[in-house]
Amino acid sequence: MTRDGSHLEFPGGARFAFTVMDDTDVATVENVRPIYRLLESLGMRTTKTVWPVRCEEGSRNFWLSETLDDAAYHDFVVDLHTRGFEIAFHGATMETSPRARITRALERFRGVFGAPPRVHANHAYNRDNLYWGASRLDDPVLRLLCGRVAGQAAHLYEGHCPGSPYWWGDLCVEQIEYVRNLTFSEINLRRINPSMPYRDPSRPYVRWWFSAADAEDVDEFNHLLRPTNQQQLEAEGGVCIVATHFGKGFGAGGKLNAETRRLLQLLAARNGWFPPVGELLDWLRARREHDGLPAGEWRRMQWRWARDLVLRKLAARRRHASLKRLRNQPHDGRSEGVRDGQRQAFPDERSPGERTLVG
Ligand SMILES: [Zn+2]
Repeated sequence: MTRDGSHLEFPGGARFAFTVMDDTDVATVENVRPIYRLLESLGMRTTKTVWPVRCEEGSRNFWLSETLDDAAYHDFVVDLHTRGFEIAFHGATMETSPRARITRALERFRGVFGAPPRVHANHAYNRDNLYWGASRLDDPVLRLLCGRVAGQAAHLYEGHCPGSPYWWGDLCVEQIEYVRNLTFSEINLRRINPSMPYRDPSRPYVRWWFSAADAEDVDEFNHLLRPTNQQQLEAEGGVCIVATHFGKGFGAGGKLNAETRRLLQLLAARNGWFPPVGELLDWLRARREHDGLPAGEWRRMQWRWARDLVLRKLAARRRHASLKRLRNQPHDGRSEGVRDGQRQAFPDERSPGERTLVG
């Protein structure tokens, strides 16, 4: 039973639905191949975002990432697509793009995959993000906090603003079906946003919005998928879309994180439905009686988002501090085992305070 009191009967008699939306930040063929091989072997077909074009001007935080302009990555992603994984959009590339580059990127996407992307998620501080920063929210208090305190003023992001050099809202509404907005620490999204996917008349350049469970990296992913949460997801007949970055610690050195393997094997052994994001949202949408989002649900979602974001930031700060302490310990061999069990460092690792409001 879910918050709105309705039961969902999933395809094939499954008792819950689970999928992943993998944002392509710092992803390379080497660091994401192991997780995709596992997902495929477990019968899971998830969604991977891509950047269709390279970032000619360079990127401080994301320079390591590969794009469809890298031949081996292009071939890897095309192969994933033929194996049934969904390929989605994460903007044109890793840094801000003017309209011309976004147009070129969408053309490239259609050329490679034969159709426009159905799903999109905004990326970091790219100014071409749509309805991002404080524009994600309507609650006046949260908008103020997001703008003034977190420095995420609404005017920084202009993808949805006609006349801006970063305007592409017309292309988005014409080509893309689903865009991700708020994310939470909750594994069962039916508890928080039973009305997803939903339309929002005040944000007309996005056709349908959806929510996700946030897991920034491999540590947060493993924490989210802990056995008690899996049990809860199944018992509640829940829906989970995890927003994560498979480039962040899942397959460093070409080897899959052992705990991630164990947890996904446990999940696959449960009676779940594991479709890509677009297919899951189509299915949920077909079961909705109305396409809007009740005001009370939206109000609760915004406050829950803010609460979860602060708590995740604090937890990340604690992890970062303990990692720093471990690194500063004299290397006497005894701490080796502890180090191996800790969060792996990423080439682009920023301090937790810099964590973008990606979720
Ligand atoms: Zn991103």
